[in-house]
Amino acid sequence: MKAVVLNAVNDLQVTEVQRPKVEAGSSLIKVLACGICGTDRHIYKGEYPSSKPVILGHEFGGVIEEVGPGSKFKVGQVVSIDPNIVCGTCPDCVAGRTAFCPGLTALGVNINGGIAEYVLTPDTQIYPVKDGLNPLHLAFIEPLACSIRGMDLAQLKGGESVAVLGGGVIGLLVVQLAKLAGAREIVLVTRQKFRRDVALKIGATRVVDPKSEDVSEVVSGMDVTFECAGAVDTFKQSQVITRRGGSVIVLGLTAADTNLEINPFSVVVNELRIQGSFLNPLTQGRAAELVGSGKLNLDILISKVVDLAGVQAVLDAPPAEGDIKYIVCP
Ligand code: NAP
Repeated sequence: MKAVVLNAVNDLQVTEVQRPKVEAGSSLIKVLACGICGTDRHIYKGEYPSSKPVILGHEFGGVIEEVGPGSKFKVGQVVSIDPNIVCGTCPDCVAGRTAFCPGLTALGVNINGGIAEYVLTPDTQIYPVKDGLNPLHLAFIEPLACSIRGMDLAQLKGGESVAVLGGGVIGLLVVQLAKLAGAREIVLVTRQKFRRDVALKIGATRVVDPKSEDVSEVVSGMDVTFECAGAVDTFKQSQVITRRGGSVIVLGLTAADTNLEINPFSVVVNELRIQGSFLNPLTQGRAAELVGSGKLNLDILISKVVDLAGVQAVLDAPPAEGDIKYIVCP
């Protein structure tokens, strides 16, 4: 089978590799779609740790080609894959904090992933999706599961004012989730006009260009702010624009060695809750069902679909102006 293999930092090749053999407790998935995300770019450039050689791709789904003995799944089922494999027995897993499992291993990061014709997947990671789902939508289920984690932590009950800083895939999914959760005001802050226009079509009630307006002045008193840019500026803004007693949910990832000053006095007297949100603990199934429900506008987020040979060019260049999501169809 063909696969995109990362041999070393900045060294990617479409390679003919052995098709994996199914064992008990695993299934062979024929990949229909795999998203390319910022983490893949970081892995490619050596900015995020991964095994090497490894087949990249952690946002994927496909059709079951082969099942192991005694499997509850059926050949031909279309499924989404949770790439994050955990032990299920450590204290964190038992408490539902699976993102902290010391044994966490990720398909497409530590072991072979979905930018390939086939992937061997543990059955624990498989989530069937609705019949007839647009295969491209499989690429959104994992990032949506991470966004749902942020929503769980935000505990929106309806009627809140919400700010979303950063209009990439995560920010634009959070905008749609906030709308579904009944937020009365959703302010999206991002630099690219195309993304601000998209946000207005999918649920934002107002958009702000941080290049032409001072975010800390024109946005204030937010009940909940989602930091979805992973930038120092947006992290600082999030603390200023959130109301006293409000919550800042931090999804965006900065470089691991980025530090910045915060004002502890302000955090205390404003009872500001600054809450990180990491991965998709126990949210992949809900994400698969929500994508299947058709309640999200995902087509508007798709910028380009490439084959395996097109992956290198996508990873070599920064995303083009206006582009949101690139998807690989092997
Ligand atoms: P993305 O496509 O890079 O989106 C982030 C966007 O934020 C950028 O494209 C940029 O859009 C915007 N931005 C950057 N600086 C900004 C600024 N100063 N003010 C306003 N907007 C700014 O990435 P993504 O896939 O949506 O992911 C968002 C973040 O979440 C990333 O850091 C990613 O690593 C992280 N992530 C976290 C988890 C988790 O589990 N916590 C899961 C997946 C991803 P403009 O050019 O339009 O400004």
